[in-house]
Amino acid sequence: MGTGFFNQGDLVGVLTTQPLDRVLDYKAPEGGCFLGAFVEVPLGPRKVLGVVWGPGKGDWDYAKTRSVIRVLDVPPMREEMTEFLEKAGAYTLTPLPAMLRLATRSPGLGDPPSMRKIYRMGHSAPDRMTPARNKVLAVLEEFGGLSFTLKELAEMAGVGGSVVKGLVAQGAVAEEESPRDLPFPPLDPSRPSKPLTDDQSAAVAALNDGDGYATTLLKGVTGSGKTEVYLEAVADCLKRGRQALVLLPEIALTSEFLTRVEVRFGARPAEWHSGVTMTERRRVWRMVGEGGAELVVGARSALFLPYRDLGLIVVDEEHDTSYKQEDGVLYNARDMAVLRASLCGAKVVLASATPSLESWANAEAGKYRRALLTSRFGDAVLPEMRAIDMRGEDLPGGRWVSPTLQREIAARIERGEQSLIFLNRRGYAPVTLCRACGHQIGCEQCDARMVEHRFLKRLMCHQCGETKPMPTICPHCEAEDRLAPIGPGVERMGEEVSTLFPEARVSVLSSDHYATARQLKAHIESIAAGEADIIIGTQLVAKGHNFPLLTLVGVIDADLGLQGSDLRAAERTFQLMRQVAGRAGRAEKKGLALLQSFQPEHPVIRAILSGDEEGFWRAEAVEREQAGVPPYGRMAGIVLSGPEVGPVFDLGNHLARNDAALKRIGAQVFGPAPAPIARIRGRHRVRLLVKAPKGVPLQSALAQWTGGLRLKGDLRLSIDIDPQSFF
Ligand code: ADP
Ligand code: ZN
Repeated sequence: MGTGFFNQGDLVGVLTTQPLDRVLDYKAPEGGCFLGAFVEVPLGPRKVLGVVWGPGKGDWDYAKTRSVIRVLDVPPMREEMTEFLEKAGAYTLTPLPAMLRLATRSPGLGDPPSMRKIYRMGHSAPDRMTPARNKVLAVLEEFGGLSFTLKELAEMAGVGGSVVKGLVAQGAVAEEESPRDLPFPPLDPSRPSKPLTDDQSAAVAALNDGDGYATTLLKGVTGSGKTEVYLEAVADCLKRGRQALVLLPEIALTSEFLTRVEVRFGARPAEWHSGVTMTERRRVWRMVGEGGAELVVGARSALFLPYRDLGLIVVDEEHDTSYKQEDGVLYNARDMAVLRASLCGAKVVLASATPSLESWANAEAGKYRRALLTSRFGDAVLPEMRAIDMRGEDLPGGRWVSPTLQREIAARIERGEQSLIFLNRRGYAPVTLCRACGHQIGCEQCDARMVEHRFLKRLMCHQCGETKPMPTICPHCEAEDRLAPIGPGVERMGEEVSTLFPEARVSVLSSDHYATARQLKAHIESIAAGEADIIIGTQLVAKGHNFPLLTLVGVIDADLGLQGSDLRAAERTFQLMRQVAGRAGRAEKKGLALLQSFQPEHPVIRAILSGDEEGFWRAEAVEREQAGVPPYGRMAGIVLSGPEVGPVFDLGNHLARNDAALKRIGAQVFGPAPAPIARIRGRHRVRLLVKAPKGVPLQSALAQWTGGLRLKGDLRLSIDIDPQSFF
């Protein structure tokens, strides 16, 4: 390739985002093009987006080869990015076009820079309010200072463009000319940081040591100052003139973090997640490539932005399962962050109070560095943890708060402190049972029960999201008024707690209760300010929020996560329980965490209570090593699905019988078996698991094993490398 430049008429190979399995030849356009150039090419009757991936193969009649239509006005894809897409694609067994789609998730990528009209909140009130006008103003209100294009604003409000124009005429909405895609305001890393403790300074020094690739596991209890510490890694990266990326597991956490960035660096960073408007996405994509965005805060897909010079990736709450993409391209953002960083000489910080066993093992093996924060910042101390042995509690059926827990809550209310009741179950009741015939209402599309959501007055399937009104007649035996809720969800806990404490202010915190992230944030802030005595929450509350008045955490069912066959069940329960408990006593008051359990002698419950984290990981590591499962062996999940169960199983059996490619690398196949959720959205699902020793070429064996298959009709096959959950 030499210089990486192609003259007009030279053959170039172009990778498009279309699902084709090869790179296509085109002629370089007038003016030529660089390797990596983003281009528009003809494909049949259409024009599609592509990237110049290399020289053409020339195995096609030159005269008939079509020309690249135009080169887009964005910097060419860097070699480091090409390499990242290829390696990540090879690792996850994802075809390159799908990888390229991840890297081009920006609207109007090829549009030339220009001026455009934008709309923001105006200064006058409209003469007359209509429901449509109200919707427009509500959108502007919700997104604060942001501005929108006419199309975006109208679409988000669900109204026609004329409604917006009408508001402009009245001065209620302001219309302005604005250049597209302004750079983000510069961040100032030389502003003073908070004075760090010795522990924190040592951690910062460890993170910032050296200037090539390195991954550091930053482990510290909630409230120990991990965020404070990794902000100093960001500062160091910015001082070196490189870009930084901070990945967070939840959009709900970004706003608190953005504020902290602003306090530390004097300006807000670029944001990239599903809540960001199209215009803003386009701006972030372009500015990241041109160097007009120094810091990006976002969700896992921010890994695929075209950074000009990425020097640091922070993965906060690195153990969080939401880093694993479970749809489309199945990748784990934590692992891909390490891959990307190793290719561009960047540092990685994996921050967590309860690291994944994978990261813990990598640190043990010396592949990752370690930085430890051992105590909470300031006077805050770790909560005391105790089990409530439910076998000894006197509790009538249909009630879940034990007398012991009830007494502790009462004492908190007396002292003006907050209590959190934790139950990781959304809705009112997980099961709706007919007392006449025993029928449990299930989803028609999935192999799952419908969950009653009293707040929404509907039944909901947590697999496919399907809802239906709460019936009064049993769909099976048609008995009337015999349907009964079985088991608790957070909404039902809200009822019980309100009955136990009629005077208390009870607040249920569950993602179903909020239409927007903004509402959720406002509610969390009001709780933090003291506007609730008892909070009832799902795992939403386990993540990063700060409630200074909270001194008691009561876990309704600590055994919940221990059931099930997931190899990570113990690890998950351990992480979740430690994290929830960490919500208590963050300020100067000492916290208490009480775990209701029917098996307090279970080793996992004992490890949680004793706080012997190293002991827990070591024991867990030994078990997994003996079983030859991750991180000491490799696994892949293969899910086959189709509308009829027969052909799906036939395909599964065919694969299981023809496993020579796997045998060659010493891998074993288990299955086919019905997947744990055997039906989703009307499709039957069958699963095979492949277990291989560490260090063998698993991906190429899998590719060989499944490569020759012809999937008939509506059959689908998906391969999940390092499956997190065994859906
Ligand atoms: P983590 O990310 O480990 O949960 P944070 O970085 O959020 O911890 O720190 C917890 C709280 O303590 C925050 O309010 C933070 O501002 C404060 N804090 C941590 N370290 C310091 C410090 N060195 N000086 C002042 N405040 C600090
Ligand atoms: Zn019935």
